[in-house]
Amino acid sequence: MTATSWVPVPDGSPFPVQNLPYGVFSSNEEAPRVGVAIGEHVLDLAAAAAVAGLDGGHVFAEPSLNAFMRLGRPAWTTVREWLTEILTHPGDEELMAPHLFPMSQVRMHRPFEVGDYVDFFSSRQHAENLGRILRPDAPALPTAWLHLPIGYHGRAGTIVPTGTDVVRPCGQRRLAPDADPAYGPSTRLDFEAEVGFVVGVPSSLGQPVGPEEFAEHVFGVVLVNDWSARDIQALEYVPLGPFLGKSFATSISAWVVPLEALEPARVSAPRQDPPPLGYLGNGSEWGLDLRLEVQLNGTVVSRPPFSTMYWTPAQQLAHLTANGASLRTGDLFASGTVSGAEHDQRGSLVELTWNGTQPVHLADGQQRTFLDDGDTVTISAWAPGSDGVPIGLGPVTGTIRPALS
Ligand code: CA
Repeated sequence: MTATSWVPVPDGSPFPVQNLPYGVFSSNEEAPRVGVAIGEHVLDLAAAAAVAGLDGGHVFAEPSLNAFMRLGRPAWTTVREWLTEILTHPGDEELMAPHLFPMSQVRMHRPFEVGDYVDFFSSRQHAENLGRILRPDAPALPTAWLHLPIGYHGRAGTIVPTGTDVVRPCGQRRLAPDADPAYGPSTRLDFEAEVGFVVGVPSSLGQPVGPEEFAEHVFGVVLVNDWSARDIQALEYVPLGPFLGKSFATSISAWVVPLEALEPARVSAPRQDPPPLGYLGNGSEWGLDLRLEVQLNGTVVSRPPFSTMYWTPAQQLAHLTANGASLRTGDLFASGTVSGAEHDQRGSLVELTWNGTQPVHLADGQQRTFLDDGDTVTISAWAPGSDGVPIGLGPVTGTIRPALS
């Protein structure tokens, strides 16, 4: 039987009762606190827990998900079961309805305090596209790429919630291929459509976290836009990787979708050849059937399929802790740009426009190679949910503001 909520959920809503993502909201002048999305409403979890007499409900009065995420998988399961019960049982409507807020009347905040931030590079198509664009005379894949999930540590403090404007970054870049570097606004500003995984339970320093421990540590999933200044990046990235071309801003969605909601979306990972070393799993790795959509000023410019990712989230977690590096509550690791095999599945403008040589055309008649001031990028995603009901992630949106001069 398909579970339905007494809260009205419009057809096509990303937030049916099969989803129940967590976020941090505020209403009027009240302090930010934890809520859960249901249809077009937010349930105030601290208030709901108080009237229901739920033990430990004080974690929902916090202005971030961190205290709840630190509790671990058994508590996450208990709360999800309780939420499903109170939102589907008609007898709970009278008690709970006063604690529902229309989404249109609340403000969403960054859902968690970000610990450490890692960004991977796990789409083979994306890695090969960038290799062909940036290193046309060399093999498309870096030599280590098939042996390990390549990544780098990013800047946690500049991770911003959806709806935050992004100021065009300034930096050193070459305005012509043989020109000397000059400081100024980036002229090749791009997006990267990615999926991020949020760590709830920390690990001990020196103790790797194997792929089979993924669900004990990872709380849920967000959408990520890894804004990228290609011209600044091009000058700085050899030999240590991304730095100022990425660190000015990274946007995440407001709602963290629990892993449990995405269990029906699990798919087999693509075959890996050569077989990965043992610490990266036993060959039973799973991916997720998340269908991303990228809109630029309202025009859909890409539909990247996350199911095609070569390295899986559990392998990424195992690799980033393989040297004993510990996890903290609120750590975020992102997949890297999601790009599929088709032209309209590429998850960044540098790929869609083939480094600016093939503009994308927008519905209003304009065209783009890279982002202009005033442009708005919105990434959303759908996944199969339980009972055959699709569930939505995101959106994560941001608008480019002019450089400060
Ligand atoms: Ca990236």
